[in-house]
Amino acid sequence: MDFEFSDEEKIFQENLRDYFSKSLRPRLREIDEKGIPKDFILDASKIGLWSLTFSEDVGGQRASFTLASIAAEEIARADFTMATAVFFLLENSWGYVLDKYGSEELRKEVLPKVASGENFLGIASTEPSGGSDVANLKTSAKKEEGKYVINGEKAYISGVMEAKEMGGGHLTLVRTGGKGHKGISMIYVPINSEGITVSRIENMGRMGISTGIIKYDNVRIDEKFLVGEENKGFYYAMDGFNHARVLVASACIGSAEAILEEGLKYIKEREAFGVKLKDLQSIAFEAAELYTKLEMA
Ligand SMILES: Cc1cc2nc3c(=O)[nH]c(=O)nc-3n(C[C@H](O)[C@H](O)[C@H](O)COP(=O)(O)OP(=O)(O)OC[C@H]3O[C@@H](n4cnc5c(N)ncnc54)[C@H](O)[C@@H]3O)c2cc1C
Repeated sequence: MDFEFSDEEKIFQENLRDYFSKSLRPRLREIDEKGIPKDFILDASKIGLWSLTFSEDVGGQRASFTLASIAAEEIARADFTMATAVFFLLENSWGYVLDKYGSEELRKEVLPKVASGENFLGIASTEPSGGSDVANLKTSAKKEEGKYVINGEKAYISGVMEAKEMGGGHLTLVRTGGKGHKGISMIYVPINSEGITVSRIENMGRMGISTGIIKYDNVRIDEKFLVGEENKGFYYAMDGFNHARVLVASACIGSAEAILEEGLKYIKEREAFGVKLKDLQSIAFEAAELYTKLEMA
């Protein structure tokens, strides 16, 4: 099997590496302390970064997920705290889902503002009772006079503060039907809707993008915000998770590459006990082992 990138993919990778080495890497500490700079978000929207995977009519480029994976890897290589890569992969995988399953009206209302870096888009699936068992989620949405009335709580949700500050929201998994995965719908919920309270979870690491809790107290959301069909949300979510997982994995590789590069630089410079660290076999072997594992990944 040939894993080589095409010429187009190689050029894309080189250009992004160059762009992020100038626009992101020098701001690593700033990102970790204060969040992803707004000017970077707006600047990167000009190269279509936040909407690579969307259709052209909503500001995207309909790029392949190979290109999106290359972008995730290159972002995390520059910002190895992963904050910017997570921001990127949320927009590109959940924007992709909204583009694929959302109505014309919903796509056009939400996605162009995500593409332009004006709004944030994320996923709200996990609840305080757990994340892996998506089919058992409890947050409910009852239909009343053309609105969904949402009650419940989501936990560990990425980008809650970014959504509040920038505007935007989350594709939210809610129970609209009976038990199990066939009773779940996906609704786009703008985070600044009445009845929502948000609180931040204090993370250790990946400080540049927030994680938090969203509480819904009779939040009334217009039915036009339903993604696709009622009670099909589980399937849309699994499609999104499949894509998001690949982008997360790519970002992890980029971050690890950057860290290994820094380590290699250090062992070539640092002298102890009369030799460079790189000339100590135990260290050289470990570096080779790490490099090999990363190359395989
Ligand atoms: C930094 C961060 C950001 C996040 N961002 C988001 C977000 O934006 N949106 C969102 O919806 N969620 C988000 N999450 C939540 C994340 O999706 C969940 O943490 C994840 O789904 C796992 O759920 P859990 O933590 O409740 O673990 P649990 O479901 O309690 O699982 C605990 C452990 O048991 C294992 N396990 C569970 N069930 C089985 C099984 N059947 N067989 C074998 N092993 C099993 C799991 O693999 C895991 O190792 C985020 C979490 C973190 C830490």
